[in-house]
Amino acid sequence: MAISVKNLNFFYGSSQALFDINLDAQEGDTVVLLGPSGAGKSTLIRTLNLLEVPTSGELHIANNHFDLSQANNNPKAIRQLRQDVGMVFQQYNLWPHLTVIENLIEAPKKVLGISEEEAKKDALELLKRLRLEEHADRFPLHLSGGQQQRIAIARAVVNKPKVLLLDESLSALDYKLRKQMQNELKQLQRQLGITFIFVTHDQEEAITMSDRIVLLRKGKIAQDGLPREIYEDPANLFVARFIGEINVFDATVIERKSDDELLANVEGRVCDIHTSISAEKGQKLQVLLRPEDIVIEELDENEHSNAIIGRIVDRTYKGMTLESTVEFDHNGKRVLVSEFFNEDDPHMDHSVGQRVGITWHEGWEVVLNDEDNQ
Ligand code: ADP
Ligand code: MG
Repeated sequence: MAISVKNLNFFYGSSQALFDINLDAQEGDTVVLLGPSGAGKSTLIRTLNLLEVPTSGELHIANNHFDLSQANNNPKAIRQLRQDVGMVFQQYNLWPHLTVIENLIEAPKKVLGISEEEAKKDALELLKRLRLEEHADRFPLHLSGGQQQRIAIARAVVNKPKVLLLDESLSALDYKLRKQMQNELKQLQRQLGITFIFVTHDQEEAITMSDRIVLLRKGKIAQDGLPREIYEDPANLFVARFIGEINVFDATVIERKSDDELLANVEGRVCDIHTSISAEKGQKLQVLLRPEDIVIEELDENEHSNAIIGRIVDRTYKGMTLESTVEFDHNGKRVLVSEFFNEDDPHMDHSVGQRVGITWHEGWEVVLNDEDNQ
């Protein structure tokens, strides 16, 4: 295990910013810390190299061990930690008075005691890998934002850290460049085998970059899992809403049918829902459905159907998929439906204004009893 954090708590003065955090990362993995602004991502990542010192907990990272309840500010141990654990910020923080190559060899020479010649050789090799070798003798301010950020990353990895902490490192770049840098970073990470902790507030970036996502909310871990687990099986409404699109249907329990089935009234539709959460008769629940979980049904003349009846109010062709917005008759709620686009499928002929029934792929629903996350 490259990183293991146990029961970590952190306060800014009297205000608690991190609550009992437990976090692991396997060697060579990219773990993404995701969450809205103010969730505690920067605070957490900064505790990993003790830029912020937690009040309690244990930190094991790249063979450095700290029991944080002991006042542990042994400068030698912290120096070793900072060698093993590199960091890249959103702002590039390059030294403006040094050329690119000088920026890269400064720390290896001073901290690692490597000869100038050797350090230059390592740095040039890395610059080549990042296709930046022609800029070696230029000053950072003469380079574009993307190039400066690549240099900042190169400067962090040239020290051969075992773990690299990246705090919103791509967030200042425009969309296209960010996409390109995501791929470059992933490649670099695979080649060097460094463990990454990568902070972002962007769910799409999180899914692209991560082996695992840790979603933070108000200083606590809302969910920790594979991107797919978090998407398909969100622990609560906050998580469901933060990653991807979600439709929330209101349901009332009619009766329990078996350990993992309830009979319920879901937006007026009486049907089975699959869940093992404990629920009493009459209890209110939420049924969560992703746009691709939902099925649009045609109605007969009499509109006899056990589906939820509504009307298509919008259709958008998205290339791979066709998105429809359907408005329920009974309460005006709007749901988003995503179907694979297929010319030969008669569903593709549905049109705005048409009345339809809404059901879903049985068993794909996630059922929650989640009052505090509304
Ligand atoms: P994120 O990086 O997820 O946006 P932060 O870790 O920066 O979140 O902040 C977490 C919480 O701690 C926020 O409520 C923020 O206001 C507070 N905070 C951050 N830095 C400081 C500081 N230096 N002093 C006091 N409170 C802070
Ligand atoms: Mg931050």
